[in-house]
Amino acid sequence: MLEPAYQADVVVVGAGVAGLSAAHRLTSAGVTTMVLEAAHGVGGRMATEKIDGFRLDRIGQLLSTAYPELRLTPGLGGLVLRPFAPGVLLHGDGRHHRAGVQPGTGGARGALHAVRALASAPRSPSAPRLPRRPVAVPGRQVSAPRSRSGAPLGTAVDQARLGAALTRLAGTPAERLLARPELPAGEALAARGLPARTIDGFLRPLLAALLCDPDLTTSSRCADLALRAFASGRLCVPEGGAEALPELLARTLPAGTVHTGVRVTSVSTTSVTTAEHGEIRCRAVLVATDARAAAELLPGLRVPEFHPVTVVHHTTDEPPGTGASLLLDADLGGPVAHTAVISRVDPSRAPAGRALVSSTVLGRPPGGVDTAVRMHLARLYGVSTARWETLAVHHTAEAVPAMRPPHDLRRPVRLIAGLYVCGDHRDTSTVQGALHSGHRASAAILADLGAGRSLHVADPVPTVPRAA
Ligand SMILES: Cc1cc2nc3c(=O)[nH]c(=O)nc-3n(C[C@H](O)[C@H](O)[C@H](O)COP(=O)(O)OP(=O)(O)OC[C@H]3O[C@@H](n4cnc5c(N)ncnc54)[C@H](O)[C@@H]3O)c2cc1C
Repeated sequence: MLEPAYQADVVVVGAGVAGLSAAHRLTSAGVTTMVLEAAHGVGGRMATEKIDGFRLDRIGQLLSTAYPELRLTPGLGGLVLRPFAPGVLLHGDGRHHRAGVQPGTGGARGALHAVRALASAPRSPSAPRLPRRPVAVPGRQVSAPRSRSGAPLGTAVDQARLGAALTRLAGTPAERLLARPELPAGEALAARGLPARTIDGFLRPLLAALLCDPDLTTSSRCADLALRAFASGRLCVPEGGAEALPELLARTLPAGTVHTGVRVTSVSTTSVTTAEHGEIRCRAVLVATDARAAAELLPGLRVPEFHPVTVVHHTTDEPPGTGASLLLDADLGGPVAHTAVISRVDPSRAPAGRALVSSTVLGRPPGGVDTAVRMHLARLYGVSTARWETLAVHHTAEAVPAMRPPHDLRRPVRLIAGLYVCGDHRDTSTVQGALHSGHRASAAILADLGAGRSLHVADPVPTVPRAA
């Protein structure tokens, strides 16, 4: 029966992917839910800026088709993921080397047996040559120059060992990876018995890109999960920009669930107070904000350190010939951790006749970041970038919560009955982690409220329309 004292069973604070995924599970179970978002749009960190027909993400856009929550989250049935070319393209010793996937496989299983050096990147006369020594980037540790023979992945035997290691990882259950001893990822790699050149030439740049952590201080367990996702799926981006994912979640919730432009200033087990609309009473509150905002609403909650990330977008009418590949620098020769002609991966991100090149810089960006990025991109792509136009430089100081060991990947989401918290800071600092934390929090709420029972029937709960 109608409980006039309550305006909703559950109020979710924050319409990032964590809060929206929790709202889906709650409304699907018949629990009336109100999502309150301070910004004027949904999506939080998964925002996409639109300029002159370009779609420019704030985030470094590396999802994996192997993220389980992309399949499990209700409302994401209509999500279109655009995969990068299989594996990655490594730039090392002035050449491009594909660490690819064998045809017919969905991931990198056995793929690195097939690693082969591609033809050198076409080099325009004006493009500077690769420096012999890595360039020092302020705020970022750069490893000593390595002596290597040939490709960054070493000999055929080295590559076969790496391929076997990734295949084993892809087949290892996540629980077993989480039971392994925990070290900083950089130290753990060195202890794995792989050749130094395989680690430095491939695993370091790959993991730095996947974890947004250039110094590899992240827990080795999180690194193993990231490598496992790489080895068993394909790196991909949402078609239309990062925002497509939260917008799809919001669109497929019952009408009237999400309220934007409403900032929550305090929470309790039975109400939230908002800056704009006073108090809203409810049976339970789920704080689904970023870590810092969560700690402001829930004093005592830990605020982690963060990895800063800068994303730089350029356009050109002469795209480099790397196709839809994700390009990494095996030489760590500049500020760019990874880059792609993203309009080749997802053509909807650029208007006809233009190419969009999106590049990610990890750590504190160097002064004059755009110039440093252009110079590095010229070496990586082997073309002149002098005429490329800069569309946007997005810097996010608190982009990704650091996951240093010991890192609890399953931080409690239930604080007390009636008060819950989710977000990437409760899980892994990824879209998968954010979605999964929303999954866990909604399960805890449903267990406390009485799963499947509609508790508040002021309005009939509309059927959740599922995307095709
Ligand atoms: C630059 C960058 C690169 C990244 N690269 C990757 C990557 O390659 N792969 C990957 O998987 N992940 C990546 N991530 C991480 C990923 O984007 C996040 O883990 C995920 O989006 C977090 O979602 P969330 O819902 O937990 O939090 P958020 O997206 O931060 O959502 C929280 C929401 O709460 C709202 N809010 C805050 N305070 C209040 C309040 N008082 N009242 C109401 N609303 C409030 C905010 O406005 C926001 O909309 C990257 C992030 C950044 C920034």
